[in-house]
Amino acid sequence: MELLKELSEAAGVSGNEKAVREVVLRHIADHVDEHRVDALGNLIAVQKARPQASQPKRVMLAAHMDEVGLMIVYIEKNGMLRFEPVGGIDPRVLLAKRVRIGPDGVPGVIGMKSIHLQDPAERKKVPSADKLVIDIGASNQEQAGRLVKVGDYAVFDTAFAPMTDSTVMGKAFDDRAGCAVLVKVLQAGPYDCELHAVFTVQEEVGLRGARVAAYGIDPDVALVLEGTICDDAPKTRDETPVTRLGAGPAITIADRSVIADRALTNMLVQTAQAHGIPYQFKAPGLGGTDAGAIHQTRSGVAAAVVAVPARYIHAPVCVLNLNDYEHAVQLVIETLKQGAWS
Ligand SMILES: [Zn+2]
Repeated sequence: MELLKELSEAAGVSGNEKAVREVVLRHIADHVDEHRVDALGNLIAVQKARPQASQPKRVMLAAHMDEVGLMIVYIEKNGMLRFEPVGGIDPRVLLAKRVRIGPDGVPGVIGMKSIHLQDPAERKKVPSADKLVIDIGASNQEQAGRLVKVGDYAVFDTAFAPMTDSTVMGKAFDDRAGCAVLVKVLQAGPYDCELHAVFTVQEEVGLRGARVAAYGIDPDVALVLEGTICDDAPKTRDETPVTRLGAGPAITIADRSVIADRALTNMLVQTAQAHGIPYQFKAPGLGGTDAGAIHQTRSGVAAAVVAVPARYIHAPVCVLNLNDYEHAVQLVIETLKQGAWS
């Protein structure tokens, strides 16, 4: 849980994943044979196969370090900050939220008109992001400019917290949950395959890091580790949720970015069944992951996705189930151990 907390609280909006990279590196450095940071900022670690493995496959495991957030684009004369969303953020979740800005984590709040001042029509509308400002308490442009620069990133200011024995809340479980799973998988290695673990950058703005990393690695197969949509709250209509919290790691059949490799998917399912690990399928057709870029690399890469379900992803605070997380770690480890990659 400490690892998840540390990863969740690190600031890493797409394009500025350094703080997350440092946390990851601290936890994996002693468990990998080599590591490097590429031109885009992907952290690529290689864990060689066990010496007794014959003709080990090159397996790429990917989890993205970046999270959705905001970028400061203009400082108003009155000291308020204009911003743009980075990645997909519902403007409804922005109002009156605390943020931390720039390398020093300058505290700010996304301002809104108080209810007393809104007319009845305004109360029914959600202002778009370009109508909102971040208030850092500065009284003019010059004072604000000493604290914050145009181009600085803002992240939601959310402390990680346990809820019940099995649930926790925190920000950015999409995809720090996947990063944490990947760290644990490396710590449990080596395996009979050559692992190329990539903590990718800029997934939320178009799978950019994974695309170049996969090209360089040229893997035989790829497994993407995610924190995915969980919408199991009661509904008025009888609809199947995308995933359910506590029902095990979610295996993707197809989303908007990839049709998962059937052989790999079957291998995950058979491994889960053989080891009594709970699992679920993610409802097809929603979301996208780094697998979207990886499977189209070079002459194509067989790719599958395993995800930890998290409620309220892309919002300031999400909820996940620690058993799902532990079972995702176990599922990936057991799958790698049996090593029958074909
Ligand atoms: Zn994600």
